[in-house]
Amino acid sequence: MDAKQNLFFVPILLFFLCFSTTCHFSFGADSISAYRSLSGDRTIVSSGGNFELGFFKPGKLSKYYIGMWFKKVSAQTVVWVANREKPVTDKYSSELKLVDGNLVLYEKGTEIWSTDTKLKSSSVVAVLLDEGNLVLRNGSSNTTVWQSWDYPTDTWFPGGYLSYDKRTNRTQIPTSWKNSEDPAPGLYTLEIDPIGHQFLIRWNRSRQIWTSGAWNGQIFTNVPEIASGSIFNFTYISNNHGDYLTYFFANSSAYIISRSVMDYNGQIKQFGWLPDQQKWSLFWSEPNTQCQVNAYCGAYGVCNDIFSPLCNCLPGFKSRFEKSWTSGDYSGGCQRYMELESGNAYTTGRKADIFQIHSHMKWPDNPQAFSAVNAERCKSNCLSNISCTAYAYYEKACFTWNGDLFNMQQLSVDDSNGRVIYIRIHSSGSSKNNKGIIYGVVGGSIAILSVLLLIAFRRHKSGIATVIERAAEGTMVAFGYKDLQTATKNFSEMLGKGGFGSVYKGTLPDSTVIAVKKLEGVSQGEKQFRNEISTIGNIQHINLVHLRGFCSQGNKKLLVYEYASNGSLDSHLFNPKKDESILPWTRRYEIALGTARGLVYLHENCRDCIIHCDIKPENILLDSFMCPKVADFGLAKLVGRNFSRVLTTMRGTRGYLAPEWISGGAITAKADVYSFGMMLFEFVSGRRNSEQTRDGKVNFFPAIAANVIMGRGDILTILDPNLNQVADVEEVTNICRVACWCIQENEHVRPTMSQIVQILEGVVDVDMPPDPRGLQVFIDNEDDIVFFTDKASSSNLHIQSDPAWASSFVEEQYTNKKTQGSKIQECESD
Ligand code: ATP
Ligand code: MG
Repeated sequence: MDAKQNLFFVPILLFFLCFSTTCHFSFGADSISAYRSLSGDRTIVSSGGNFELGFFKPGKLSKYYIGMWFKKVSAQTVVWVANREKPVTDKYSSELKLVDGNLVLYEKGTEIWSTDTKLKSSSVVAVLLDEGNLVLRNGSSNTTVWQSWDYPTDTWFPGGYLSYDKRTNRTQIPTSWKNSEDPAPGLYTLEIDPIGHQFLIRWNRSRQIWTSGAWNGQIFTNVPEIASGSIFNFTYISNNHGDYLTYFFANSSAYIISRSVMDYNGQIKQFGWLPDQQKWSLFWSEPNTQCQVNAYCGAYGVCNDIFSPLCNCLPGFKSRFEKSWTSGDYSGGCQRYMELESGNAYTTGRKADIFQIHSHMKWPDNPQAFSAVNAERCKSNCLSNISCTAYAYYEKACFTWNGDLFNMQQLSVDDSNGRVIYIRIHSSGSSKNNKGIIYGVVGGSIAILSVLLLIAFRRHKSGIATVIERAAEGTMVAFGYKDLQTATKNFSEMLGKGGFGSVYKGTLPDSTVIAVKKLEGVSQGEKQFRNEISTIGNIQHINLVHLRGFCSQGNKKLLVYEYASNGSLDSHLFNPKKDESILPWTRRYEIALGTARGLVYLHENCRDCIIHCDIKPENILLDSFMCPKVADFGLAKLVGRNFSRVLTTMRGTRGYLAPEWISGGAITAKADVYSFGMMLFEFVSGRRNSEQTRDGKVNFFPAIAANVIMGRGDILTILDPNLNQVADVEEVTNICRVACWCIQENEHVRPTMSQIVQILEGVVDVDMPPDPRGLQVFIDNEDDIVFFTDKASSSNLHIQSDPAWASSFVEEQYTNKKTQGSKIQECESD
């Protein structure tokens, strides 16, 4: 047999041997073995078809890398790169192969990259696993001798880890790409911090620019949304060996394909793949906005979060690395056209440096503050110190900056955080003798001025392309009315109408589908409206509908939301369309849990806590994965006093209203708990809680369910008949019990939303609830389902069906609450 025949027969022989003995070799299309290497277009694919490994080319240049990408994602998304610092120029004359137990990349016989395992063994195979891990296994012992998860590129996989080994001092640190076309290590690293028990983003392996906050056993304190009640399950282990952090997806149905990336722009981003839209959806990122990333625009660069380019050089400065700057890598910053005068201009006889004024700026980092009688003194103080590069005079104090200026931001004209600052430049910065400088100053001024103008006129039509581009990145956007008119084809496709206005479907030019809500009756002033909007827009959680932007032009107030393709829960629960299947019990349970998690976030975890005040199935939207998202949070406060009108005139809402709305008690988060409980009953029955029977009687389901829960009947008899009794009895019992606790008249007895989550997660048991008082009344009183307790005789239930009365009552409540200064009053109008 010659060598060629050998190559052919040996794998076949081994193949048969594998069946006759316990053999751990894998010679399928998922592995590289002594007999199978990668070259040219050849790739290997993990056994379940999740990942592919082979040569790829990230940019236009002929630079090839060995990389791993998602096989099931149409837009090639690389998650790991082997030779990230040393590309090859020709993939056909390059080969990735196993040599003496090492995986080595050669180009024309020269070694480019290697796993550098010290083991000399011919029985090693490289297998691509379905989790996105390339492992080298020693066939003789079936031990893993090397794995790509120990050498992450920029992606942190579910199941992968960040770690620090005390004994070896080894760390796993995903490091950003240099830019979108260069996988070489960039400026940002994602690291575990064994001292603070947290994870953090570092810039340039030195300065810490963002931290998750310490792990308290359940959440990271600065980002509770990613651990508690979210789609992630984190595990943080700290022991004698070191620290170790990993995560998994809590809900396997949501975002089946997903990735966490340390992005080259300095943000950690979590994406989920939307198969029906064939695109990645960004659902979490930190720091929140691009301008919050430390030194994003480098020295003397000015950041703005609204229009592109995101960075501009100050007048009198030009980009230090023109090519990277134009390709979007701003980290090199800007440099002066002309250096500052050294020495005192008075003694040298040369012209002193001048200062250029900049308004609406976020100041650079690290000012030094001292008192000065006036601005002129402050200026001369700066001028006399050659290292002083800027000054500001604010509230009778002088602020000066020494050395390079970082983290300046151009704010919009109506942003109250904007301040004036004077930047020092060479006097010829405004001289007519130096063309270069003139261009620099004028060009820079124009760039910054245009940013200001664009911000001021951001609702103007010309801004739409960039505006929409930013919308896609998850930043809150101010849309022009015309933009939304175009996106919704003149508001032609109405999705529904509620108490706050009508909702229309729309599509942005980048194909993102949106839902636009035209608000009616907003009584707030412009500034307050914008403040509220920015609070709502900053709230991001997988179980909350994301507010992408807004429009505020005179009395035209519109909100732009992410679109939930499966509509609202009421239609699935109460009126499934002909072609829709009945919501199975397991799905109902998942939706209940997801909704509860969204509410926990609103009540307890987000920075400005919010009481929803209008929980009902119409406000639980379902995305393409049937993942629930709570809608319309924050609207109670936004529409202010008109909210009482909404509550009392809307059909449907009334049945979910907690008694304290009417009885005069303070409105707390427990009002949402009550509404949530009412809704839970509807998950079980598949119908509205109050239903008129053919003979005119009103059946009040919670009363029926409470009766059964008290041990007076079989739980499955009250289950939605469409489910054909296919449901977990324990789960149904749990939900009914929780619901009974939630609708207790005394709000102090009701559980909190986080207790509810724990019960639904099965972590905590739920006791037998007390009989909810007065429920029987609903069976006996058929006229109306709303119970408004009479203030004069609160022991009796007074059935009140006049919305006008209720409206004035609720308004009175608002006023009372203000004067009484109750503790939690998020639903009130101020
Ligand atoms: P309320 O005004 O009390 O919230 P509502 O929820 O019935 O009552 P709207 O919020 O105006 O009224 O919504 C009307 C309908 O529009 C919803 O029931 C839902 O079906 C649809 N809808 C609203 N927002 C979205 C969205 N982001 N994606 C998809 N459909 C939506
Ligand atoms: Mg709604």
